[in-house]
Amino acid sequence: MSRSTQVAIIGGGPGGYAAAFLAADLGLNVTLIDTEPNPGGVCLYRGCIPSKALLHVAKVIGEARQAREWGVTFGDPQINVDALRKWKKGIVGKLTEGLGDLCRRRKVDFVQGRAVFRDANALIVRTESGTEVVAFEHAILATGSFPASLPDLGADSPRILDSTTALALPDIPESLLVIGGGYIGLELGSVYAALGTRVSVVEATSGLLPGVDRDLVRVLSRRLKERFAAVMLDATVTALHEEPDGIRARFEGAGATEAEQVNEKVLVAVGRRPLTDGLGLENTRVALDARGFVQVDSQRRTHEQSIYAVGDISGEPMLAHKAAHEGRIAAEAIAGKKTAFEPQAIPAVVFTDPEIAWCGLTESEAKQQQRDVTIARFPWAASGRALTLGHRDGVTKLVIDPETQRILGVGIAGSGAGEMIAEGVLAVEMAALASDLSLSIHPHPTLSESLMEAADAFFGHSTHVYRPPRVK
Ligand code: NAD
Repeated sequence: MSRSTQVAIIGGGPGGYAAAFLAADLGLNVTLIDTEPNPGGVCLYRGCIPSKALLHVAKVIGEARQAREWGVTFGDPQINVDALRKWKKGIVGKLTEGLGDLCRRRKVDFVQGRAVFRDANALIVRTESGTEVVAFEHAILATGSFPASLPDLGADSPRILDSTTALALPDIPESLLVIGGGYIGLELGSVYAALGTRVSVVEATSGLLPGVDRDLVRVLSRRLKERFAAVMLDATVTALHEEPDGIRARFEGAGATEAEQVNEKVLVAVGRRPLTDGLGLENTRVALDARGFVQVDSQRRTHEQSIYAVGDISGEPMLAHKAAHEGRIAAEAIAGKKTAFEPQAIPAVVFTDPEIAWCGLTESEAKQQQRDVTIARFPWAASGRALTLGHRDGVTKLVIDPETQRILGVGIAGSGAGEMIAEGVLAVEMAALASDLSLSIHPHPTLSESLMEAADAFFGHSTHVYRPPRVK
């Protein structure tokens, strides 16, 4: 069998389906190929969506516990793992089936199968019913990434989980060792801790979430210290051995407070790698960089004129919303529009409780670049809304150019940070000045006021924070 299409898209995650839908909306004939029965990719099937469902449950459990401080006491949660799994699966099903329906409505040809490049204008797609050739004018590679594994540490066991198997929630283990204190380690560690597992984290660098501003991470670390049995920084695992009761891990490094530990399960969350193997890229001129990412230009075009690449496969940050934006740029470029991927701010959110979110220039990046910036902070202890929510330990900060007073970056640690960072993205993208935020009336009482008050603090005039004037 064979078919021909104007645009073939390989990978139906947020990068691939966003590209497919816009290309179809722009009048192009589109074929979207994925191994799953519907679009969705890692984000919907095994990543963002199922993890956020479980993190919501973790938050509810956490708040129910915290309610004791407010005079309301609930009993210990009774967790029906089958029902929880079913609820999570239902959400994923609804969303992915909805995407399948959107494909049909837009007349995007969805092919369930595995695609390999035969050359720069054709794919060979293996489906359940056989093999077919898909000839294309343009292709967009959007195959995403997969969990990185550790070098062989001695144990190969179903007790060793990655993000996919941990999200499947096979059971609630009595104890869990999380290797890697990044996004996945802290999000999934938080889920299991809330469900009752004794969680220990081992992180190779000197702090959780390396690269993120320390004042933001501190807000989370303080809470995690209460929730996790142990957090070992500057420590790595040198060996894993399976024993009848679990996995014995041996630790090394300045921060290894214990020499070894036995846990029922181990979660490896040490990063993700771009998925470029087995795609037949050797049959094209698509080139990879030293880290294995596909090299692309500002329109996401690879070294092969007919092939574009978007999402995790084309570089950091490996985030669904960056992939979707790139996918739309590639679709526009194919449709002949003048377009380029040039965001001023890509937001990042760690969906722990509290959440951490940032966008644009961070304080750490400014330091590395030896760039002169002014940091304006608003501590949530001064926010009425934060106190009513029991979240007085949050902070909102602005990274401001002292000359132009332009907002270069925003960081937030606290409940709802992931929702609020969008205002920061808009401020950075629109080249807003501190006065723009300060003069925009924010609703009271909300956490969003913290952005306005941080801008007020830049001028020394935050209503709810008193800073005595400097004596001259
Ligand atoms: P990550 O890069 O965020 O964190 C990996 C951590 O593992 C780092 O802190 C690193 O120092 C540590 N590490 C590496 N090797 C180690 C070792 N041998 N022993 C101990 N620690 C070690 O990676 P991740 O958490 O696996 O997530 C992968 C990617 O998935 C992220 O970069 C992110 O782009 C994406 N993601 C995003 C979200 C979100 O947006 N909320 C959630 C989950 C995943």
